[in-house]
Amino acid sequence: MKKVKEYLNPSVLTKIIIALAVLLTLVACFVVVSHRAPGAAEKNVVSADTCKTVVVVASGDTLSGLLSKQGLSHTQINEIVRVLKSNGVSGLRADRDKIEFVRATAESPVNKIVVIPSPWRMVELTCDDTGAWKCNTVDVERDTRAVYKSGVILDGDSFYLAGMRAGIPAGVLADVYDLLAFEMDFERDVRAGQRFSVLYEENFSSGTHVDNGHILAVSFDALRGNVKMYRFKKKDGSVGFYNEKGDGAIKSLKRTPINNAKVTSSFQTRRKHPVLGFTRAHKGVDFRAPTGTPIPSAGAGRVVKRGYNSGHGNFVRIRHNGSFETLYAHMSRFAKGVNVGTVVKQGQIIGYSGSTGLSTGPHLHYEIIKDGKHVNPLTVKLPAINNLDDANKKRFLEYRRALDDGIEYLSSHPNMFIVL
Ligand SMILES: [Zn+2]
Repeated sequence: MKKVKEYLNPSVLTKIIIALAVLLTLVACFVVVSHRAPGAAEKNVVSADTCKTVVVVASGDTLSGLLSKQGLSHTQINEIVRVLKSNGVSGLRADRDKIEFVRATAESPVNKIVVIPSPWRMVELTCDDTGAWKCNTVDVERDTRAVYKSGVILDGDSFYLAGMRAGIPAGVLADVYDLLAFEMDFERDVRAGQRFSVLYEENFSSGTHVDNGHILAVSFDALRGNVKMYRFKKKDGSVGFYNEKGDGAIKSLKRTPINNAKVTSSFQTRRKHPVLGFTRAHKGVDFRAPTGTPIPSAGAGRVVKRGYNSGHGNFVRIRHNGSFETLYAHMSRFAKGVNVGTVVKQGQIIGYSGSTGLSTGPHLHYEIIKDGKHVNPLTVKLPAINNLDDANKKRFLEYRRALDDGIEYLSSHPNMFIVL
């Protein structure tokens, strides 16, 4: 078990502690209470004894607007915005960021501003006697736990429903889906009775659950064999996901660009066209997607075509490397800034689904073209992005065995966790 710790977080702790279920339950209760208590009324609460005003950023708020409301002059506002910008705070996120304004007395001007741009960082600005604003950033200490959740697919279930029932938070579930989609096909590989599990991080600050961190391992008993993936940090510090054998699990392309989208028509060399009526090949896969669903690029690459034709409607074609291209058709519109020549990342939104061209209803028609030939996106063998060299593979296999031991322990002790 010590091994897991060393690999997961080599610098901080020296041992793994398996803590008791009772503690986790207590913390969970506390979270509910502490998150509910302040509520929406927190905005602009003035506490008389501290002369502190806490503002929760609302949609439409600007930093200078909020500063102006606190009676700060134009010159001061410009200076504060400049200092904040040089400390990495340039924009505000509605409903998430908080700003505290502190005064010596209720009538005196603001002399301290605390911006909380993330639960893990505080930026403090203090005004000195000369009127200059000094900045100090504080990183909030966090405790991280590895939590294990597992579930089973029931009749008529989707993976999403089964995951929610297993208590996996929606954000974690979306990440799990993203990962598994590289190695399995949710249309063909999922059946009732299959089991899945995930080991992921929960971050705590002073005993309060704040957010969830990385996924450390996932497993799915798919129809075509058990899919397992592990997050692993290489010697050079780069992080990737690997299968049981240590081969890169993240592929250069995704088989299903839109998460959780149902396949409505598969790749066929011959099929009766729903609009044209006669038989012709279906060179891609259709995914159900209501109009306006964001379409992410299946892989990193460069846009080589963006336009309209009578069959595809609005479409984007992306070249990923020497041999692979992908095409996305029937879009209602293109994403801003996506033009011929634009370099895109894997997962970057390139457009929005629709029903333009020869189409019977809103969906995404997705094609993979390999060496100039259309291939079935759901079955084509895709190259891995990141494989391990011999030295890293050896480390990975040791780590993986240790982690598997931890997972096995947690699977028979469902309410325990690993302190990282
Ligand atoms: Zn199609």
